[in-house]
Amino acid sequence: MNRPSPPRILIVLAHFDETRNPRGRPDFIPQGTGHLFLAGAFARDRVDLRAYSEFHDGPLVDEAAFADLDMLVLTGVTAAFDRMQHLTAYARTKSPGCVVVAGGPVVRNLPVSSAETFDYACDGDVEEMQAVIREVFGEWAVSETILPRFDLANWRGPVSYIETSRYCNFKCSFCALTAEGRRYHSYDPAYIEAQLRNAPPKKYVLFIDNNFYGNSKDVFYDKLEVIRSLWREGLFQGWIALVTGDFFRDPANLEAVRAAGCLGLFSGVETLNEAQLKRYQKKQNLVVPQLEAIQTCLNAGVAFQYGLMFDPSSQTIEAMQEELAFITGETTMPLPAFLSLTIPLLGTPLFDECVADERFLPSAKLRDMDGFTLMTRPLDGLEDVALFARKLSRLDGNRARILRHCLGFYRNYRHSLSGRQMIHLLANSLRLALPSVLHRHGLPTRSGSDENLTYVTTTQPLGPLYTPAFRVGEGFRSHFAPTMITDASGALDDTIARNLEFRTSRRQRTGTGIEHSSS
Ligand code: SF4
Repeated sequence: MNRPSPPRILIVLAHFDETRNPRGRPDFIPQGTGHLFLAGAFARDRVDLRAYSEFHDGPLVDEAAFADLDMLVLTGVTAAFDRMQHLTAYARTKSPGCVVVAGGPVVRNLPVSSAETFDYACDGDVEEMQAVIREVFGEWAVSETILPRFDLANWRGPVSYIETSRYCNFKCSFCALTAEGRRYHSYDPAYIEAQLRNAPPKKYVLFIDNNFYGNSKDVFYDKLEVIRSLWREGLFQGWIALVTGDFFRDPANLEAVRAAGCLGLFSGVETLNEAQLKRYQKKQNLVVPQLEAIQTCLNAGVAFQYGLMFDPSSQTIEAMQEELAFITGETTMPLPAFLSLTIPLLGTPLFDECVADERFLPSAKLRDMDGFTLMTRPLDGLEDVALFARKLSRLDGNRARILRHCLGFYRNYRHSLSGRQMIHLLANSLRLALPSVLHRHGLPTRSGSDENLTYVTTTQPLGPLYTPAFRVGEGFRSHFAPTMITDASGALDDTIARNLEFRTSRRQRTGTGIEHSSS
């Protein structure tokens, strides 16, 4: 019997670029992989599937992409909720009857708005997608095991993305995972092996877990054993992972990862200021002095990368400048891979703190929770802090210091790091000094439209995506209005308050999201 033509599915990783760059960031590492994992929930070759990342390829505005769809699946960070509404409007205009499914942190943090907008608002993990597929299409359309569909990505980069665990066992006050409150757990070694064998061969592997190290030494060593044997088999060239600060407490950990093919580690340093770390409840970064941990790592032949963040509502410009001056002058540590403002993400302890202290600026918008736009009242003058924010992501004004830093860093680690590790770290530094030469889309770039940005949420322009890319149904106009965090007086927006109240009461009722354990 002939089956009717396969259902058409579009899966989109929805994203707003903070600089309003319309071309995406194909060179950026890491890329989001949620859409590829979701694609893995569908039976291969039984549905007509397209997976699209707006982060990688830029906003999806092609009218034809939304025609004749049976299902639109959306994922993304909470700040992308408005973008998901836009995409929903496009799909429902071009494909009336199309089932819209959304999941991830958006749905967990905005349960009421999500239920009103999408047909299926999934607050579980990626496995919940299988239940939705079963209900909408039938068992025949469901995959047996969820393996990410790298074959659907048009990535040509040298990196494959693998996950060995989910969530985190710490509770930093600013972190989206703290808001979600889910229990940390590691995957079965057999599933890790299946992912590694499923990824394109001979590339570098980036383990995108939020906490690769985890809270069990036994599980950590079991996982390393699998990775080491597959690396020795020649399946991939080496790997990089994200670890928490407590990893550096035991020097044997560095030896173990190196023996298993590790080339580099990324850790969320966030700040070198102890008071700020305590404010962020990032206690794991106080276990070993951070500079010492970085030096030990680099001297052991493992590259080290990190991100830094600055909170103008609790730090003065002078203090933030001092920290930047220290880092650009300290050649025993690399320059940061990311610099951003601290984001009081929806549902985090930091968000609650900002609401209680009435710290949010008036007319604050959800889409501006990007680490690039100022969301809260600063200690210093707004104009001065906006200028600081404008310069921050590229360390503007530090070109000579950056070049001197590169030279000093090279001298310090030329014997312990390999040529490719050194090139990678120096390229990161140089793209801060010479972004137009070395990096096309990885860092925020200055364009004509950037000049219109104010870096302050109250006045930051929404950008072109809030104007429909093509004519949408009259009933979808409201899908293009921004979700507000505060009103014009700075008070918490009613819709946000309603969502957060519902979220809290549901957690109390069901016990989900409150089983977070800390190591
Ligand atoms: S250690 Fe990292 S992933 Fe874990 S809660 Fe803190 S910021 Fe989030």
